Amino acid sequence: MKTVGVLGLQGAVSEHVDALKRAGARGKWVRRADDLDRVDALIIPGGESTTIGNLMETSGVFERVRRMAEQGFPIYGTCAGMILLAKEGEALAKGQRLLGLMDAAVERNAFGRQRESFEADVKIEGIGRFPCAFIRAPAITRVWGKCRSLGRYGKCTVAARQDNLFATAFHPELTEDSRVHRYFLDEVC
Ligand code: GLN
Repeated sequence: MKTVGVLGLQGAVSEHVDALKRAGARGKWVRRADDLDRVDALIIPGGESTTIGNLMETSGVFERVRRMAEQGFPIYGTCAGMILLAKEGEALAKGQRLLGLMDAAVERNAFGRQRESFEADVKIEGIGRFPCAFIRAPAITRVWGKCRSLGRYGKCTVAARQDNLFATAFHPELTEDSRVHRYFLDEVC
């Protein structure tokens, strides 16, 4: 059974731990850099990307995660986690540091204030139609290089893959449907 760390500094952490269990894996909170030694993969959850990024830096997790990712460690970023994985950010708060791992440009709060949260069925390559919960969601506005869009909502990419890295703008941990977590476990890890 795989043990997947869920970065537990801020955001929707326990929901991912539960979703991993439904998908047949063990979820484990990761708060410090050395917690990463005991997991096979990592989920960076939704929350507030500036806060998560700052806490990652002060806890020493930021550089460690970046180095591990470059060596092939599997990482799945949801929502704020997707923002942190991207190389470029359009309309990011000044000074926000990104892990800069995926060949993708993200826009925070891409769906505007009128649509703070909503659900939509989106066809995701390798998964099928999925009921996607978007909460102040970002979107990928451009991919290049090795990054591949796996699903779009309107003009925006809401699921993407680059080798050992996977990202969704939506929150599959909030639904009972564990296909997205299973995809991460079976195809990315
Ligand atoms: N809007 C948040 C951000 O920019 C992300 C929202 C979420 O993770 N649900 O960090």
